[in-house]
Amino acid sequence: MTINRRKFAQGVTIAALLAGIPGAGYLMLGQAHKKDWLRLPGALDEKAFLALCIKCGQCVQVCPYHAVFLLDIDDGAATGTPIIRPELRGCYLCDLLPCVLACPTMALDHNVSGAEQVHMGVAVLTDKTQCLLYQKKPVNAEMIDALISHGTRNEVEKELAEKLREHVGKDCVLCRDFCPYPDRDAAITLDGGYPEFHERCVGCAVCQELCPTQIIEIIPRKTYQEVYRKERGS
Ligand code: SF4
Ligand code: SF4
Ligand code: SF4
Repeated sequence: MTINRRKFAQGVTIAALLAGIPGAGYLMLGQAHKKDWLRLPGALDEKAFLALCIKCGQCVQVCPYHAVFLLDIDDGAATGTPIIRPELRGCYLCDLLPCVLACPTMALDHNVSGAEQVHMGVAVLTDKTQCLLYQKKPVNAEMIDALISHGTRNEVEKELAEKLREHVGKDCVLCRDFCPYPDRDAAITLDGGYPEFHERCVGCAVCQELCPTQIIEIIPRKTYQEVYRKERGS
């Protein structure tokens, strides 16, 4: 990390802390030049989003799951804008989408008011053979501890941790059981012994976050048709 970068990061992090933003953290994970960010619910297309987002951190402040991160100084014009980092925390599609409501500039579109209207991306399974359900292996305590380490800072996160603990020793159905889309069957099913994603998957990344073998990925911004039609070669 360069001194300038370090100073900037310290500055913005301290500013965020002074502003009382819980969980505020500027990522230092070397994501320079990446363009396909997983944005928040309601985010306008990337160009319009960047034009309107004033990097105020309001969305960070209101997210009960601490799912919103701000991009690092290496990210050019996107520096300081919010993203979801699925490996750290998915978006749990909270009632009334508080992040959207908190956005003062409509960079997060206030016409998006519920999970059914969200479109962040689409989930894909990268390697069926590594799926615990497919392998008929149960979830173990270490796996759940690793997931719980993503955060237990408030009651919402503690409740999530408790629900996760209930899965120890059982068949893995984590990706489906925690999918926050209201009509879960329209987003993800496990009927074939591994996850299959469907048209209403909104790309919230909860399944990616909670998959113990990390075989789910979100393709940001893409539609189901774009991803799965292409996959089938039609
Ligand atoms: S919907 Fe909820 S979990 Fe998702 S980013 Fe917004 S506040 Fe956070
Ligand atoms: S299947 Fe559910 S949990 Fe996974 S990305 Fe889609 S909507 Fe989110
Ligand atoms: S979370 Fe889903 S994809 Fe991952 S191992 Fe469990 S059943 Fe398989």
